[in-house]
Amino acid sequence: MSPSPALFSLRGVVKRYQRGDETVSIFEGLDMDIQDGDFLAMMGPSGSGKSTLLNLLGGIDRPDAGSILFRGQPLQALSEARMSGWRAANAAFVFQHFNLLPMLSVARNVELPLMLTTLPGAKRRQRVGAALELVGLSAQATRLPSQLSGGQQQRVAIARAIVADTVMILCDEPTGNLDRQTSDEVLNILSLLNRELGKTIVMVTHDARAAAVAARCLRLDKGRFLPAHAAGPVHGTADEPVPA
Ligand code: ADP
Ligand code: MG
Repeated sequence: MSPSPALFSLRGVVKRYQRGDETVSIFEGLDMDIQDGDFLAMMGPSGSGKSTLLNLLGGIDRPDAGSILFRGQPLQALSEARMSGWRAANAAFVFQHFNLLPMLSVARNVELPLMLTTLPGAKRRQRVGAALELVGLSAQATRLPSQLSGGQQQRVAIARAIVADTVMILCDEPTGNLDRQTSDEVLNILSLLNRELGKTIVMVTHDARAAAVAARCLRLDKGRFLPAHAAGPVHGTADEPVPA
């Protein structure tokens, strides 16, 4: 029996943006592997390509060259329609600013990823209930996001990220807007999802405490991964732009 392929294998990934007449190069041949069940932290200075990489992994952006294999299958072969199907099954995002819809209740926000599925209403409500219970917010289901603390709002976003039972959760600075205590609550939940449910988690962070929760940490700098032995406080935890 041949060993099963990695969840992700990136080979020679090239990503460039056009800014006016200028081509901005983000990645020129990036390689990486992510295994099923991994909990990976990604650190690096602002502009080093962390969010771009999350978007590539989540199938909301495509590389200009190179390949992204998902369980051995090249994502670039998928049409837009198939890609959105792939995304629905595999990728959920958690952002720094929670990105909840302010006029919808907590339960409705969590239900959103299920609205495009054929799941009947009763089944949807059951899933929403389970997701809210997992993040400890069952009692807040009928509230509006604005009635919750920042930490609670991020837990709603995590409930939304798990409700469709995707393979992975991609987090872009999930504790960037939270104080220490509420960060810990959010990190504990992410840990639990990884440990107990086997979710693969990729978490961009500038918070060394958050990175310490992950199983491993990669550092991006100018579109490249720094060698593991350079992982120390070389670049500190600085993700903020250097003051002019
Ligand atoms: P990070 O998340 O590490 O701060 P990003 O991946 O957001 O970095 O961005 C990397 C670089 O790519 C930055 O210089 C940013 O300005 C540029 N960039 C990101 N998205 C776009 C886009 N859609 N168009 C043009 N440039 C972009
Ligand atoms: Mg970013």
